[in-house]
Amino acid sequence: MNRSYKVFTIGGIQIFIDWTWLLAIAFFTWSLGAYYDATFPSWGLGTAYLIGAVSTILLFVNVLLHELGHSFTGRSLGLPVNSITLFLFGGVSNLTTEPQTPRIEFLVAIAGPLVSLLLAGLFYLLHAAAGGGSSEVSAVLGYLASVNLILALFNLIPAFPLDGGRVFRSIAWGITGSLTRATRLATSVSKLFAALFIAGGLLEALGFGQFISGLWLAFIGWFLYNSATASSQQAVMDQVLRGVDVRDVMDPAPASIAPSTPVQSLLFDHLLDGSQRAVAVQSPDGTLLGLVTLSDLRQLQQEEWSSTPVSRIMTPATELSTVTPVEDLQQAIGLLAGNRYHQLPVVEDGHLVGMLNRDHVMQYLQLRQLQSRQQGPASSLDDRSRISPARRRVG
Ligand SMILES: [Zn+2]
Repeated sequence: MNRSYKVFTIGGIQIFIDWTWLLAIAFFTWSLGAYYDATFPSWGLGTAYLIGAVSTILLFVNVLLHELGHSFTGRSLGLPVNSITLFLFGGVSNLTTEPQTPRIEFLVAIAGPLVSLLLAGLFYLLHAAAGGGSSEVSAVLGYLASVNLILALFNLIPAFPLDGGRVFRSIAWGITGSLTRATRLATSVSKLFAALFIAGGLLEALGFGQFISGLWLAFIGWFLYNSATASSQQAVMDQVLRGVDVRDVMDPAPASIAPSTPVQSLLFDHLLDGSQRAVAVQSPDGTLLGLVTLSDLRQLQQEEWSSTPVSRIMTPATELSTVTPVEDLQQAIGLLAGNRYHQLPVVEDGHLVGMLNRDHVMQYLQLRQLQSRQQGPASSLDDRSRISPARRRVG
């Protein structure tokens, strides 16, 4: 699911579009066009499909508003949100950290359906004001009213990753006081609903001859079932990582070079053996000045390598995302994954104190998951063992 493209930014939140979204556009335009053509035969076929396409685009604008409801609520409650992705089944807000309390999880989850419900009311009033007749504008307003109502109700079904799954989990979390138990309960309920979707869809397709819509329903059920499994794995991960800081996993002695080092020696002494993707550029007093990667070399012709200092091609420290050694590892992983970084410099008072590499984080996660499977999650929680990075080099 990595084929998504950034299209624009709203209030600091990046909006991505996944390639599967194009399938949804085609499917909705086609089915809405057929619906309008059957309901308003006086429009003609061309108009019906044109209004179908317009309605589809507006549908996704409303899906985006729903997601922005989650995102802005999350941000106002201290959860950093960096992106929203529109894909086949709608939209998803990518929160970089999990909510820390049941109250926050509840509020963030309920915000989306509330926005959809408000929009449904608003479009219903506009539809009524437009006379409710068979004009194109009134038909689109009526469609937006009902589709927002469906969005609100569908998302409240208590199945992960729908909002209702999170609403359910936050309530169970509040009552039991245990995130693990709440997640287990919510996952079971999610799988039950997913199975109902699949069974209902197959029945509709095979029993009642509604082939396309039945399969679509079954497909949604299959998607929900997989997501429920994934979110229970995510919950195990959350538990494994609780209380682990960046310094427990970072490379405490990353390779670094002086700003005057020629690009040639950066290449031959550090990058060519393939063990490092990036090298930090440091002043003699240890201040982080920048980061230089293999791809920065593309700015230069080969004959310039021996005469150019790395400071000319590095990404300066002011433009780098960095973490501190005491930052939550989970937050740092969110930053790595959310921005597709391979490494993050670890900085304290402007000085480079380590490097957090994606490969080391992956190794660490695999190790901890193995441990927690062998020991049971409870006993491994306070065991903050360190792993030493496989390839440690001092530059
Ligand atoms: Zn939602």
